[in-house]
Amino acid sequence: MTGKRYFRFGLCSGLLVLALLLSLSGCERQPTAREFNETVYTFGTLVNVTLVGVDEAQAQTAYTAMLDDFTYMHQTWHAWQPNALARINGLLKTGVPFSLAPSILPLITQAQTLSAQSEGLFNPAIGQLINLWGFQTDSRDEHAPPPTPDEIAQWLRQPPSMDDIVIDGLNMRGLNPQLQLDFGGFAKGYAVDVAINHLRELGVENAIINAGGDLRAIGRHGQRPWRVGIRHPRKEGVFASLEIEGDESVFTSGDYERFFEYEGRRYHHIIDPRNGYPADQVRSVTVIHPDGATADAAATALFIAGPKDWHRIAKRMGIKYVMLIDKGGRVHMNPAMQQRLQFKYTPEVLLSEEL
Ligand code: ADP
Ligand code: MG
Repeated sequence: MTGKRYFRFGLCSGLLVLALLLSLSGCERQPTAREFNETVYTFGTLVNVTLVGVDEAQAQTAYTAMLDDFTYMHQTWHAWQPNALARINGLLKTGVPFSLAPSILPLITQAQTLSAQSEGLFNPAIGQLINLWGFQTDSRDEHAPPPTPDEIAQWLRQPPSMDDIVIDGLNMRGLNPQLQLDFGGFAKGYAVDVAINHLRELGVENAIINAGGDLRAIGRHGQRPWRVGIRHPRKEGVFASLEIEGDESVFTSGDYERFFEYEGRRYHHIIDPRNGYPADQVRSVTVIHPDGATADAAATALFIAGPKDWHRIAKRMGIKYVMLIDKGGRVHMNPAMQQRLQFKYTPEVLLSEEL
């Protein structure tokens, strides 16, 4: 379970892990800062944590607390395991009022806000549709076909939204029998927020949590800002890099994360709730925002919004930095984002209005 752990006073190591996670954050030679670095498999992905300016005991306490948080959240919010979320999903379908589940309620309320801001493009109520596409499993049968047009049309007759969850005093109930929550589109961002808040409570001021390329950072990396990479959607390695400082999250949604192929066509896991099919205009979207949950949800929503609508939805969600790589490999972004990125490639760029 536990990866390579080291506590050090500055020198760069763990290059392999860093390359894997595309975080460039650990590669600077900083002889001043006391630094803790650890990589662990949790939340369904490799999570790399760097804490700077901490002593060893503090680092161990913070790291253990963070790990406990991740384990708890992963178990509670997993979309296809028997857990608190499965219980809620069972009850929401019935329409019967039931007592609020404190472990899930904050996710539901934040998801309701984000879903409304995204005009329903980010919609964690579509778990049944995601399951129909075969993405709610650890091992999809690689020969299984996509759902039939009839099955999709059937689902579209009564598509659920986050507004179908009514919270009334100490109870909640569902208004749509097809309601099924799947927080895969923002649980990682939410979890990273919880973990960063916990680190702060424990006195950590400089940290980066990088969960498979999606990350949130606070403070700085010694004398410098944190430096992070954005993965190329079609090749190994980094597409662009940027510096972050203070408190920022960088989240990317990509069509390469989970997909299957059937009769020569590729079907990926980011589904457009309006037509029931994987959104097909984009390769990846990267969003920078202070909190991870918003960044994660926005990356998913803007992926679906595509080259035509991303700017409007980003504005509605309060996002200030976006880079979208469309299906032709062109880069769409706002001027402020362009100023922050250092490209490894020279793509065709379509610059938008300011956000
Ligand atoms: P990535 O895996 O690239 O980080 P996302 O953050 O976009 O991607 O999350 C994709 C996951 O979100 C899917 O596996 C599914 O569980 C869920 N999902 C798919 N479509 C939507 C949608 N329209 N709204 C909310 N969640 C979605
Ligand atoms: Mg997301």
